[in-house]
Amino acid sequence: MERGINGMSLEELEALLKGLGQAPFRAKQVFHALHAEGLDSLDEVTTLPKALREVLKDYPLRTVKEVNQLLSRDGSRKFLYALEDGNTVETVYMPYPDRTTLCISSQVGCKMGCKFCASTKAAFARNLQAEEILSQVYQTERITGDRVDRIVLMGIGEPLDNYDEVVRFLRLITDPKGKNLSARAITLSTCGLVPRIYDLAEEGIPINLAISLHASSDEDRRRTMPIANRYSIQEIIRACMAYFEKTGRRISLEYVLIEGENDRPQDLDALARLFKGPMWHINLLPLNPIKEYKGRPSGEERIFAFEEALHRRGIHASIRRKRGEDIDGACGQLRILYQGMGGPS
Ligand code: SF4
Repeated sequence: MERGINGMSLEELEALLKGLGQAPFRAKQVFHALHAEGLDSLDEVTTLPKALREVLKDYPLRTVKEVNQLLSRDGSRKFLYALEDGNTVETVYMPYPDRTTLCISSQVGCKMGCKFCASTKAAFARNLQAEEILSQVYQTERITGDRVDRIVLMGIGEPLDNYDEVVRFLRLITDPKGKNLSARAITLSTCGLVPRIYDLAEEGIPINLAISLHASSDEDRRRTMPIANRYSIQEIIRACMAYFEKTGRRISLEYVLIEGENDRPQDLDALARLFKGPMWHINLLPLNPIKEYKGRPSGEERIFAFEEALHRRGIHASIRRKRGEDIDGACGQLRILYQGMGGPS
């Protein structure tokens, strides 16, 4: 797919506009309009000559369009956004008293096949381009009138399976001449693509890394997460240590509690053995049930007891507040529903 002008770096825009006989400051104006102001069209940018705006219409400016929106009692909103080709992705807007967090998607569907995840049930269609990832942020800011302060790459898709476009997105959103979001305000969640974790450590963008762990042994992990057949927990730990050494960022471990599967005493012992020390933080989450997976969420008491027991063993852990539960907060569910209603697949 041809690169949209809203997915180009400032240097790429400069090269494009130079080819059109324009001065470099025009590229800065375009970049500012698209990324600092988050505009989805250059029509209103009157500082640009009308003739240039007309010429630039020949280049794609790739944005997402709202097709559905669900509002939760807790103020979260889940957007279903359509891409140019009719595919759809989900974005979840979560306002808190002191900040606004946005959960964004990086792929249409997911190839990773985690058994408990709705994203993988609707087939993988394609990777998102960097500008389509960005547009989820700018479009949501436009619709809600709110400023996004934090971003989590935890929506549909495995971000590190779309490595180049995700890194391009990270460079654009942290660009001081654009939205200028701090890398520290961004969290990328991965099921553990070990070689890409090493690559990310070298990019010089110190974002937070979250690992979808969800089991305390390789054997258990393989039952729900096919990626565990490729990389062991020890290999993930070594890659995370390299990431921590390079970036200084603590690593969080996502641990969805499934009754009788991974909330047993032996899981506590294994987690305590593996993840001691200030570098790790375990986020405990109740399972979001989907009909294709028979596992049940651990009860509230069990979750609190699990957290408590981890603390007693000297492990940093907390329970993640569930947001948007009444609007099918788990990623991928709205997209599946839309496909079931005859939307594009
Ligand atoms: S949990 Fe993440 S990696 Fe696994 S299938 Fe779902 S979106 Fe993909």
